[in-house]
Amino acid sequence: MSGQRSDRRRVGWIGLGVMGAPMCGHVVAAGHDVVVHTRTAATAQPLLDVGARWAATPAEAAAGADVVFTMVGYPDDVRQVVAGDEGVLSTVPGGAVVVDLTTSRPSLAGELAELASVRGVGMLDAPVSGGDVGAREGRLVVMVGGEAAHLAAVRPLLDTFARSVTHFGPAGAGQHAKMANQTAIASTMVGVCESLCYAAAAGLDLAELIGCIGGGAAGSWSLENYGPRILRDDLAPGFKVDHFVKDLGIALEEATRLRLALPGLALAKELYVAVSAAGLGAQGTQALVTAVQRLSGRPASLASGGGAAGGE
Ligand code: NAP
Repeated sequence: MSGQRSDRRRVGWIGLGVMGAPMCGHVVAAGHDVVVHTRTAATAQPLLDVGARWAATPAEAAAGADVVFTMVGYPDDVRQVVAGDEGVLSTVPGGAVVVDLTTSRPSLAGELAELASVRGVGMLDAPVSGGDVGAREGRLVVMVGGEAAHLAAVRPLLDTFARSVTHFGPAGAGQHAKMANQTAIASTMVGVCESLCYAAAAGLDLAELIGCIGGGAAGSWSLENYGPRILRDDLAPGFKVDHFVKDLGIALEEATRLRLALPGLALAKELYVAVSAAGLGAQGTQALVTAVQRLSGRPASLASGGGAAGGE
């Protein structure tokens, strides 16, 4: 298949973590010519094994590319890989489009789009939702900010890992949509964890509970995907606690700037800061259950029913 398709694009890809690696895998599998770079080189090996090529720096991955994707951790990482000394913008050809998939600051998206535009390069902010499962299955939801023509140019590549792509407006609008997404998830996660802790304290069968209420009005992506992991005491990411703390911090800053009080979001952020402070920042967001349990002096894990240390 590789090399046969008439619309084959030269793609640079920076960042091969939980999300980036499977997403990039879909682009490679679609037959495009992909050059990858990530901080820990060993992570790239599975993609090199299926035809991607290695670049020593973001600049090297971007040289000669039609489209460059970045999927790194934090806004500072985005700034470094896009606009740093060995960043994408130092080599990417005029006419190319850079797509930042990282969850990052709306203001940074605007700043980088301006820098790119000076060089004749298009820039989109395109954060995603759907988690590690959605990335593996190529069923992510993509929220886009930037110019419609730039989105049209990269749409076939986004479609290799997305089930929906929505254009929200100019640079930064995709990140604002993602902050609205995270605001909804924040209180949902508190609700899911409190619900399971309540059921454990009441002595219910938790697997049966998830199966039952998941099919009713309490059903949610978070309950369906994270509930079973909580019951197995599987705290592996998934979506890292420290990344969620980053997102909730950005959302709260933006809300304050908009003179908007969001107490549910603020409460969720404080609980997640507590999870991170307890040494679980690199675990998945389902680790919130440990903080809720500990508030009432109960065992951190619900794997064996959650115990009844706080009394019935
Ligand atoms: P991750 O597993 O930590 O992956 C980040 C990747 O970027 C890692 O491979 C990391 O390298 C690399 N990286 C970071 N800084 C770099 C730099 N300066 N130069 C080169 N490579 C760099 O995180 P993730 O879960 O894939 O999430 C990525 C982003 O998507 C985050 O902004 C997150 O908030 C967002 N997001 C995550 C999910 C999810 O469910 N996981 C869902 C939606 C959105 P190392 O391996 O050396 O750390």
